[in-house]
Amino acid sequence: MSAFDDTKQTIEKAEQILYKTYNRFPVIFDHGKGVFLYDTEGKEYLDFGAGIAVCGLGYNDPEYTAALENQAGKLLHISNLFYNQPAIDAGEKLLAASGMDRVFFTNSGTEAVEGALKIARRYAFNRDGRGGHEIIAMNNSFHGRSLGALSVTGNDHYREPFAPLLPGVRFADFNDLESVKALVNENTCAVIMETIQGEGGIYPADAEFLKGVRDLCDKNDMLLILDEIQCGMGRSGEMFAWQGYGVRPDVMCVAKALGGGVPIGAFLACGKAATAMVPGDHGTTYGGNPFVCAAADKVLEIFEKRNILDHVRQTGAYLWKRLEEFAASHICVADHRGKGLIQGLQFTVPSADIISRALTEQNLILIGAANNTVRFVPPLVVTNDDVDEMMEKLEKAL
Ligand SMILES: *Cc1c(COP(=O)(O)O)cnc(C)c1O
Repeated sequence: MSAFDDTKQTIEKAEQILYKTYNRFPVIFDHGKGVFLYDTEGKEYLDFGAGIAVCGLGYNDPEYTAALENQAGKLLHISNLFYNQPAIDAGEKLLAASGMDRVFFTNSGTEAVEGALKIARRYAFNRDGRGGHEIIAMNNSFHGRSLGALSVTGNDHYREPFAPLLPGVRFADFNDLESVKALVNENTCAVIMETIQGEGGIYPADAEFLKGVRDLCDKNDMLLILDEIQCGMGRSGEMFAWQGYGVRPDVMCVAKALGGGVPIGAFLACGKAATAMVPGDHGTTYGGNPFVCAAADKVLEIFEKRNILDHVRQTGAYLWKRLEEFAASHICVADHRGKGLIQGLQFTVPSADIISRALTEQNLILIGAANNTVRFVPPLVVTNDDVDEMMEKLEKAL
């Protein structure tokens, strides 16, 4: 049987086993090295998706892999009834990198959002001595698929089949301060948004807007929750994208690249938000276990040691230049947006076709985002040469 038949059969089997909530591409990946992935037929792919902005260090980084192996041989899990050193180490580094006061480790981005929403409700409950508080979220946003995170996700297509969702959530327009102001009342407890909208099509917050929302939150004793799950961890060229704006959130959500591939997220809080929840208010069985925290700790250590931020700024600028040239010479490009290594090209022709041809004909992994956008979120260790190779393949795929 040929390798091709083998793949076909395996995929048919998968389609009978796995719950069908995805239309997957017909590729089975087997292993990776650096910014390249290899399928079970031995084909090499250049990866500009990084498992949806997760694998910041690329694949099979020797130092990172050794840290996982070492921790796996010591201790995987103990529960949050006890302390573990990797959680303290990873937490300390995260606080230092963000200037936040406290961290709570979760298993995913969605759970980080859930925790952040609970802080907001708890904060306002402490403030007013009653419940019934409202949250302002953004249209075109994405915060996850659980019922709470979905409640603040501004996408009707994702929401509608699961209604009714959390009451008291109202939607403003991203980058329209007046639309946020119009929703504030004495019951509002928080504003939640992505610093750079990811799934929605790579839309960075305007500086005026983010500063305006920060002021609005201060004046009305509301929490500003920034979702940095996709744009954080160095991807924008700042460790956290808000650090480029001169504002600080009260609560921040991280995940995706935090663990370099193991499932870990976190919410971080500062000031009064950092003490709003008390023992018994929130918990998780797996969250912050020694295995995933050893991974995050190593990721954060490598970021510092290898100066990943500088690297992202340099390659991000190069990617920007190359995509600008591409946009200027292709009439089918409607817009080019983003920062660092989170950029998007919005097309006037179906972007799904470009992504599909890039994969099957050019062995280039690209991922889509809303509004007919192709998203460029490669491993953060990508080089200018990789960018050149990607551009060549993109050109051919088009
Ligand atoms: C991916 C993502 C989430 C959800 O994270 P999961 O780990 O999939 O639960 C939330 N917010 C943003 C901005 C994301 O990109």
